[in-house]
Amino acid sequence: MSRKLEDLQCPECKQKNILSFDEVWCGNTIRFDVEESQITSTGYIGDNGAPQKVIALCGSCRHEWVVRGVKQITDIEAPRLCHYLDGNDYE
Ligand SMILES: [Zn+2]
Repeated sequence: MSRKLEDLQCPECKQKNILSFDEVWCGNTIRFDVEESQITSTGYIGDNGAPQKVIALCGSCRHEWVVRGVKQITDIEAPRLCHYLDGNDYE
């Protein structure tokens, strides 16, 4: 099942102004390496587990809610925009 981005509205203020989505996973981990008695400051996400739910954040009133009928971001129909991360952290 999938939902269209244009159909999703905030249950609180009824605006269609979603700022972001958080994809929540069950059974996943974020790993922090230890090197020379130090713990890395940023972790990386493992590829275990399964996507569980998606939480939307309203840009108008900051309400967060679980999007019904959607388990992962690919269940939301919308054109994808590519934005590139600041290259320095990724090599
Ligand atoms: Zn809202």
